[in-house]
Amino acid sequence: MQPFSEPVYITKPLLPGKDELFGLLTQIMDSGQLTNMGATHAAFEKALEEYLSVRNVSIFNNGTTALLVALRALALPEHGEVITTPFTFAATPHSIVWAGQTPVFADIDPATLTLSVEAVRRAITPRTVAIMPVHVYGLPCDVQGFEALSREYDIPVIYDGAHAFTTQVHGRSICEWGDVTMLSFHATKLFNSIEGGALVYNDPALRDKIYDLRNFGIRGEFSVQDVGINGKMNELQAAFGLLNLDLVKDEQERRKRLATVYYEELCGLEGVRCFVFPDGVTSSYQYFPLLLDPQNAATCETVYQRLRAFNVYARRYFFPLCSEYDPYRGFASAQAANLPVASRAAEQALCLPFYGELGEDAARRIARIIKRELGCLA
Ligand SMILES: *Cc1c(COP(=O)(O)O)cnc(C)c1O
Repeated sequence: MQPFSEPVYITKPLLPGKDELFGLLTQIMDSGQLTNMGATHAAFEKALEEYLSVRNVSIFNNGTTALLVALRALALPEHGEVITTPFTFAATPHSIVWAGQTPVFADIDPATLTLSVEAVRRAITPRTVAIMPVHVYGLPCDVQGFEALSREYDIPVIYDGAHAFTTQVHGRSICEWGDVTMLSFHATKLFNSIEGGALVYNDPALRDKIYDLRNFGIRGEFSVQDVGINGKMNELQAAFGLLNLDLVKDEQERRKRLATVYYEELCGLEGVRCFVFPDGVTSSYQYFPLLLDPQNAATCETVYQRLRAFNVYARRYFFPLCSEYDPYRGFASAQAANLPVASRAAEQALCLPFYGELGEDAARRIARIIKRELGCLA
C-alpha cells in the first residue's frame, strides 16, 4: 500500500459557492454595515431557528464566547463550582474559569463517553452552581437523566453542543434539553461560519440578557447595564453561515456513506469499538471515533503513528484529558483515580478523517492501513 500523495486531515471546511458568496458580499459592502447585528446577521439567526426547529437562537463570533455568555446570562452565584467532563476540548473548562467559576471534573459514561449523571450526582456539593455536560462527537448525553438531576437539585444545565449541530433525540433537537446549549460553527466543525457559534435556549426571557452580554452590556445609546463582552458575529461570518446551511444535508449524506465503509471494514474486529447511535437518535456526523484496545503490540498510538506514515492525520480526541492540563492537574477532582473511565477513553480514542470530499475509496484505504497495523490483514 502506498502513502496518500497529499496529506489527509480529519476534516475539510464546507465552503459556499463563490458566485453566491460574492453576490452576498456585494450586498453587504453596498449596505455599508459590516457588523453590529446587520441584515445578514438577522437573516442567519432566523434561518438557524427554522433549520433546527428551535425557538431562540443567538449567534456569536465563536463558540467559546457563547459558552462564557451562557454562564453569565444564568446569573449563577459567584465563585461557585461547575461540574463538567474532562473528556472534551479546552474551551469547556476554560470558559468556566473565565466566567469566574471553578470547574469540577466528574467521570464519563463508558457507553457514550459523555458526562455520567451518577458521577455528577456524587460530585454535587452546596457550592455547585451549574452542570456543563458535552455531547461528545455528537453522541447525546443522558439528557433525561440530567433533566431529572437539574430539577432535583435546582441547578441549571448548560450543554456544550459544539459537536451536535442537528443531532436529534426522538425527533426533537438536542438543543431543547438543558437551560442553554452552545453550538460551534468553527471551520473544523460539520457546519461553519469560518469562526462562529450560537446559544440555543427555551426561555425567551434570556434573549435580551444574552443580547446585552454579547454587546458589552450596552443598552441604548447612553447606558451600560452589565459587564458584557464583544461576542458579536460579523456580516461576513453570517454570510458564510447562511450559505453553508444549504450544504449541510448533502455533506451529512456523504459522511453517512463514509461511516458505512468504516463500519464495514473495522467494527467487530478484535479490540476495535465503534459507536452506534441509539434508537431514536439522529447523528450530526461530526466525527467518526473508534476506541482501540488491541490485544497485540498495536495500540491507539501505534495506529495513529502508522496512519501518519501513510500521510493520514487522524486525531486523538481527547488526549490528554483537560484534567491533565497544567492549570487543572492539581485539582482534587482532576486525579486519575476520580476519572477511571475518562482516563481509559483518552488512551483509546481515535477520530478518523471524516468529510464528504474524502470519498469512499480513500476511507477504505484508511481502514485497511488500520487493519494491517492491527494484524487483521497480511
Ligand atoms: C470546537 C469546540 C468548542 C469551541 O468552539 P469555538 O467555536 O472554536 O470557540 C467548545 N467545545 C468543544 C467540545 C469543541 O469541540
